[in-house]
Amino acid sequence: MSEENKNEEKRCSVCGRNESECGKLIRMTDELMICDDCMQRSIDTVRSQTDLSELTKNMPRLSFLNLSDFFRGSAPKEEKQEVEELPYEMADVPPPHRIKAGLDRYVIGQEHAKKVLSVAVYNHYKRIIAEEKQAAHKKEEEKKRIPDPAKKKLTIDKSNILLLGPTGCGKTYLVETLAALLDVPLAMTDATSLTEAGYIGDDIESVVSKLLAAAGNNVAKAERGIIFVDEIDKLAKKRNMNQRDVSGEAVQQGMLRLLEGSEVEVPVGASSKNAMVPMRKVNTKNILFIVGGAFPGLEDIIRERLTEHSSIGFSADLKDRFDKDKDLLLKVTTEDLRKFGMIPEFLGRLPVICPLHSLTEEMLVRILKEPQNAILRQYEALLAMDEVRLTFEDDALSAIAACALEKDTGARALRSIIESFMLDIMYEIPKDDYIGEVVITKEYVNGAGGPRILMRTGDAQRDLKALNG
Ligand code: ADP
Repeated sequence: MSEENKNEEKRCSVCGRNESECGKLIRMTDELMICDDCMQRSIDTVRSQTDLSELTKNMPRLSFLNLSDFFRGSAPKEEKQEVEELPYEMADVPPPHRIKAGLDRYVIGQEHAKKVLSVAVYNHYKRIIAEEKQAAHKKEEEKKRIPDPAKKKLTIDKSNILLLGPTGCGKTYLVETLAALLDVPLAMTDATSLTEAGYIGDDIESVVSKLLAAAGNNVAKAERGIIFVDEIDKLAKKRNMNQRDVSGEAVQQGMLRLLEGSEVEVPVGASSKNAMVPMRKVNTKNILFIVGGAFPGLEDIIRERLTEHSSIGFSADLKDRFDKDKDLLLKVTTEDLRKFGMIPEFLGRLPVICPLHSLTEEMLVRILKEPQNAILRQYEALLAMDEVRLTFEDDALSAIAACALEKDTGARALRSIIESFMLDIMYEIPKDDYIGEVVITKEYVNGAGGPRILMRTGDAQRDLKALNG
């Protein structure tokens, strides 16, 4: 290096050596640059004269002893945790009757499930408040140095919930509505995806990462959220010993820790852990876990239990009665679920068992027209934008419900049935300005006729404008 270049080279502001002599300089400000040695010397001086823990308490992740931290610009840094305090008060938690009234606006029937859920959720948030109060009290006592010998604190157990009911009866819908009503983040996952991937350790934790994302990466918010794991029955141990037991039981085992409450480190903004993704610690202690499943075959287990202890002659009558009982699931016990293949430790962490009814034709008709966002209302609103009134005759609604019942997918079939016969109407109506009303008849639903079309009158036109406006 020429003498001239050497003079232009950056120098340490403390010892005056060139960068080529003392190594890469740490740039503090435009004017101030310090070499490794001088930096270390100043730290040693500070260390010998100051309480380091005081000095570093506002400098997260900055190690005074490891200078290489300054140069590792590309290393993943843990993002600053927004641990926003969210003190809960009883006034923040709606009482069970208000939670249920909220659910009633959207979810038809399932009265027992709505009641059980409302109480369980209310208790869950009460438990959080009680724990926070106890923790605050303990801190106070410690500050005052009041010895608190063997005083046993009251702990309220976590009320994780098991929803069971046939497909399409509203399990997921109940949980979604509940989370929206309580304004808490919700993450959903499917137990079958966990089984397929095999339990490695990350899979089940990825749902906590989803919850964190749903909470806008706010850890405190996520820690009060809800996690819904659907199709939990698929994790049952296989009863047929000839079949290979896919990792279901292992996933049940793996979930125990989360259900109970433990600290997990989850990636932020990514589904898997890797070196470049910042991590956050989330405690699942106050997360409400709701698991759901259809549990096919569980009815047989319940029926068996109910009939097996009765005398021979009587048993036939009972069997007959239970065969006809459409809501046998309501009589489920933990023992039945254990027989189904759920492991006792798993069931032990789901103290609230909440069976749902299978939907009847009458309930399906109500689902079509009553909820705040009912399917019929959605179609009425769509046609009203073409200034056309859409009405359904009562027996048309029953025909739609009967058709849905046949498909055996609960309320899920309703939309596709309506979609299919509304297609022609949605296509044809905008062509003709004189059409004022379309009446959906039973014949049209069953493919045995067309809808009734009414032409526009002066009054009808006015009404439609009002409906639109
Ligand atoms: P599953 O029990 O299989 O989780 P879902 O909750 O996903 O069923 O139900 C599918 C759809 O059917 C929901 O999105 C909702 O629109 C409708 N639905 C099901 N049950 C009800 C109900 N009891 N009340 C109102 N809508 C319902």
